[in-house]
Amino acid sequence: MDKPILVLNAGSSSIKLTLFAPDLRRMLTGVADGIGGASLLRLGDTRAEVAMPDHAHALDRILDALAAQGVTLDALGAVGHRVVHGGAVLTAPARITPEIRAAIAECIPLAPLHNPHNLAAIDAVGDRAPGVPQVAAFDTGFHASNPDLATHYALPRAMAEAGLRRYGFHGLSYAALVRTLPAATGASLPRRVLACHLGNGASLCAIEDGRSVATTMGYSPLEGLSMGTRCGSIDANLALRLASEHGIEATRRLLNHGAGLAGLSGVSGDMRRLEADGGPASRFAIDHFCYWAARHAGSMVVAMGGCDAVVFTGGIGENSATVRAGIARWLEWLGVALDPARNAAHGPRLHPGSARVAAWVIPADEEREIARAVATLAA
Ligand code: ADP
Repeated sequence: MDKPILVLNAGSSSIKLTLFAPDLRRMLTGVADGIGGASLLRLGDTRAEVAMPDHAHALDRILDALAAQGVTLDALGAVGHRVVHGGAVLTAPARITPEIRAAIAECIPLAPLHNPHNLAAIDAVGDRAPGVPQVAAFDTGFHASNPDLATHYALPRAMAEAGLRRYGFHGLSYAALVRTLPAATGASLPRRVLACHLGNGASLCAIEDGRSVATTMGYSPLEGLSMGTRCGSIDANLALRLASEHGIEATRRLLNHGAGLAGLSGVSGDMRRLEADGGPASRFAIDHFCYWAARHAGSMVVAMGGCDAVVFTGGIGENSATVRAGIARWLEWLGVALDPARNAAHGPRLHPGSARVAAWVIPADEEREIARAVATLAA
């Protein structure tokens, strides 16, 4: 590939973009935010309020802004997309063909809030530049190596076969972590890694010999840790009671957007704001986040029969010394220990010389992982 690669990450109300040089150096980043409402387009150092009623309009504005900076669609080597759900079939990055597009559309029932936006971005690029190759990379794909024991809920077997099973997410972040950890540590990949992707969405992954063997998110990104605004694992009967009393849509909103740190604190779902607030409700929400992250970590450690290294990534994992220390305290029995000065400096190495389990901070790099797949598949 001798031309730049554009990576798009289309969410429910935003499209993030990163432009990579052919050698996978980051050239430009931007985001179209507030799609459908008060929209803001940021590209490099420029910011503008522009009307973006839907994803197709947002993509047009992004392409206009890129062209204004000298990057036209024809000048691109290929476009890569983060696609949230690949289901049981789409487990590796794939060049977009009519068949792959149809397979992504078939996954819409699994991710009704995500995959339609990814398809909208794929279609918009396809309409405007039919000659530019496109590649989809799936956030579920890295967990395809999980054994049936880990992916099946205890439901009638036919349900798993119909797709009602655990998948796991943040797979592109975990794949990037496996790729970059050896270079960051100067050593080969530890055999059993407890990977902690802690951002607005948060999950853990048990990585044994470089492969995912268990993860905390399940059928959807709602399961597992308590998160910014998602409740994490709760009793299904509680969800049923809420749905019967308040309706399905209100319950969906509450569990996905009104719970987690936001619900517990009543202050914010944003960790940085909770740390700055420091009040008792904010402190409780942070303590709850750390306690449950560690409780789930125990489950991940069982799935890989021990732990050689803990790795933190994501906005909270990379930047919150308080949360890293809070989780590590619960894992002292496992041999996890953080050097306070290294933790305060955000690593990359966190552990003291005497620690039985190594601990590291690695920046999340999903976009480069996608660009790498694009460079391979669209060459
Ligand atoms: P997303 O999951 O949307 O990609 P990020 O990975 O960017 O989100 O993580 C966002 C979270 O990281 C927010 O809760 C934010 O407050 C938190 N965060 C970012 N910087 C800091 C910081 N310096 N201290 C504490 N939390 C931080």
